[in-house]
Amino acid sequence: MVIEPNKVVSVHYTLTEGTAEGQLVESTQGNEPLAFIFGIGAMIPDFEQQLSGLKAGDTFAFGIPAANAYGVYDETAVVEVPKHIFETDGKIPEGLLEIGNMLPLTDQDGNHFQGMVAFVGLETVKVDFNHPMAGVDLFFTGNVEGVRDAEAAELEHGHVHGAGGHQH
Ligand SMILES: [Zn+2]
Repeated sequence: MVIEPNKVVSVHYTLTEGTAEGQLVESTQGNEPLAFIFGIGAMIPDFEQQLSGLKAGDTFAFGIPAANAYGVYDETAVVEVPKHIFETDGKIPEGLLEIGNMLPLTDQDGNHFQGMVAFVGLETVKVDFNHPMAGVDLFFTGNVEGVRDAEAAELEHGHVHGAGGHQH
């Protein structure tokens, strides 16, 4: 059975930056494999395209350029804002505005999003709204653990049930 739409695919993978020898981002090795329904948009399109047609036991190694993954780095998504907007009861909470911190923010419409503190000045801070992986080329190495037909309920819910998926 090969990987094609509406199959439940489980893979072990290691994600590194740029090349197979690049900095480790994450790996399923030593944990549960990743299980997902193929062809319903759950994964990055290039990732699915590279796995298409493989079967259990096959290995893979491929790169995905940043533009096709989490996007290129956008300089205009770094915004300078006055520090006082982060005050609670007239004070900025201790440790909140430190470089690298993720700030939970809410826009005028009540949508929640995150920005990373990129620079701290005297009166202002620069907040970076790029995805943390923006501008990073991805490289995946791994192997296919299993391929099976998705059950009707899984297709209906849009996620995998059982091992590596939802337990309900
Ligand atoms: Zn479900």
